[in-house]
Amino acid sequence: LGATLALTLAACGGEGAGSTTDTANADPEDLSIGVSMPTQTSERWIADGENVEEQLQEAGYDVELRYANDDIPTQAQQIDTMITQGVDALIVAAIDGTALSSQLDNAAAKGIPVISYDRLIRDTDNVDFYVSFDNFKVGVAQGESLLKGLGVLDENGERTDAAGPFNIELFAGSLDDNNAHFFWDGAMPVLQPLIDDGTLVVPSGQTGIEQAAILRWSQEGAQRRMEDLLTSTYSGGTVLNGVLSPYDGLSRGIITALENSGYGPTITASGKPMPIVTGQDAEIASVKLIDDEVQYSTIFKDTRLLAEQAVAAAQAYLEGEEPEPNDTESYNNGMKVVPSYLLPVETVTKDNITQVLVDSGYYTAEEVAAGQ
Ligand code: BGC
Repeated sequence: LGATLALTLAACGGEGAGSTTDTANADPEDLSIGVSMPTQTSERWIADGENVEEQLQEAGYDVELRYANDDIPTQAQQIDTMITQGVDALIVAAIDGTALSSQLDNAAAKGIPVISYDRLIRDTDNVDFYVSFDNFKVGVAQGESLLKGLGVLDENGERTDAAGPFNIELFAGSLDDNNAHFFWDGAMPVLQPLIDDGTLVVPSGQTGIEQAAILRWSQEGAQRRMEDLLTSTYSGGTVLNGVLSPYDGLSRGIITALENSGYGPTITASGKPMPIVTGQDAEIASVKLIDDEVQYSTIFKDTRLLAEQAVAAAQAYLEGEEPEPNDTESYNNGMKVVPSYLLPVETVTKDNITQVLVDSGYYTAEEVAAGQ
């Protein structure tokens, strides 16, 4: 039926979202929504897929959920297939934000509304709405958390008299993910003044995002880069005090490299305490590391709420309406400013695991204790 609707739309000269009034009179059961997620190697995307699928099904829709194994051609092909099969709306978390233009041209030609999920799809007119978190604030929170962990800021965010110098290294995400740039652009202005005044030192000298980036957000990639840095810069006895890491998976790779080189959770025989390491996503394995005082912090993004916004947006389009953005200026995708709905984020350290993650029902206390 999706295909029939698309044909009807095409015949009516329907173009892109907003012209989907034909679906407005359809029963949700007769409509299907394609959900394209990047990978199952990270817990957060599994939770995202499940939450979106469940909530769409509760609203009565048919759902086609696909994971693309972090492989760009696979994702493009899965979306092509969904369009051919006649989905009525698409929700897409892109692997490479610039690689889906021809798929989205097809979607637009068929009047299929496209919702960009968490990661902005770039360089195309054919994305209708963006649901995400405030990605710039994620970066700010990561930078501030690193400073609090080092004792440079107190818990109210005020500068202490800690003079340092503290040795830090910087990691960034995958450069083809628009979010990686937002996280970096949020964190660096927090850190830069302290690098400039000598409180923070980056002994490797690798202070550019290209040097700090880890392709596909790979845990192994982060571990390798940390090992290389330890060999090139720290083998003479310089001690590392902190690491800016934008994602829990990277943080775990970094921590493994550090542990292998003698850093420990408390003062170990080698005399090297575990550096302050930040993160993002509150993945359960990392929450346990935070509870065990191995990782310092993470940023919690409630994927249940993100799924809710994605579902609300899809539903609005299918009912012939427009979803309501709460931000219409932050996300220019290179072609246009994409109307967005941005959710708030929260920093988690050992002190508020229970309050933020357990009391909200995101994890049980048992899951935190077990790390799974
Ligand atoms: C997401 C982060 C996630 C990262 C790696 C980003 O696009 O916003 O939450 O940590 O991808 O999966």
